[in-house]
Amino acid sequence: MAGRFAPSPTGALHLGNLRTALLAWLAARTSGRRFLVRMEDLDQHTSSLDHERRQLADLAALGLDWDGEVVRQSERFDRYRAAIGELDRLGQVYECFCTRREIRAEIEAAASAPHAHLPDGAYPGTCRDLSDDERAERRTSGRSPALRLRTNGEVHAVVDRFAGRYVGAVDDVVLARADGVPAYNLAVVVDDLAQGVDQVVRGGDLLSSAPRQVLLAELLGGSSPEYWHVPLVLGGDGERLAKRHGAVTLAELAGGGWSAAQVLGSLATSIGCAAPGEPVTLDDLADRFDPGLVPPGPVAVDELR
Ligand code: GLU
Repeated sequence: MAGRFAPSPTGALHLGNLRTALLAWLAARTSGRRFLVRMEDLDQHTSSLDHERRQLADLAALGLDWDGEVVRQSERFDRYRAAIGELDRLGQVYECFCTRREIRAEIEAAASAPHAHLPDGAYPGTCRDLSDDERAERRTSGRSPALRLRTNGEVHAVVDRFAGRYVGAVDDVVLARADGVPAYNLAVVVDDLAQGVDQVVRGGDLLSSAPRQVLLAELLGGSSPEYWHVPLVLGGDGERLAKRHGAVTLAELAGGGWSAAQVLGSLATSIGCAAPGEPVTLDDLADRFDPGLVPPGPVAVDELR
């Protein structure tokens, strides 16, 4: 049994990421699970080893530790391709030649038609039932296909520790991009199954992806993990945390005189485990941690600094 933190090494971790990492560590460690760190560096254009090193150093600066080697998704493409092969043998994969622009146009054109069972922005299924001839024709025109999961818009329910019961329709999600790079939803599920992850604590923005990940896990012969989708930390303008919201990373906060221990204290206060300004250690937090103490809604970044 394991929990994990799975950042994308595309920039510095901000206070929202660090708060999620702390909760993931506490959830795993206080339930006797191993705690794993996985680098989600599928996109080699936006990911870098430099970001990876800094993210790991930031976790360590807060005192968070992990079991075993850090796993990199960029080194596991063969596993993702094998999983796509397995789904294909189940008849669950089809080639999609659509460009983003074509998909957008089709969704707009269909906006008035009754597609009520599909989530917003769901792929409208244009390439789902192409004939062999139609596929060959698209190939000859020089397009390489993405691979999509064949679904029926079925509805899956997820019971989430923070969000409660969440019901979402599953769409024909991309499994591999046209350039051959495996897609996030597939890689996450393959890795969580392979690594024995049965507890997923991550940002609340991924809640709507959980139903499709549950379906993928089931198709691949596994079961879904317990989910804890953590309410996001928002900037003063109510938007997702970003650079423009000022000092949001450990390095930036250090520039303003914050020690890592003070940041840990502030994160601890925000999850109901410390009084404001109280010095705490991770051992204290592990003793006090109770998910019921974590405020249910989003947190304004100014409450953390
Ligand atoms: N890599 C994703 C992120 O950084 C998290 C994926 C997950 O936890 O399932 O937002």
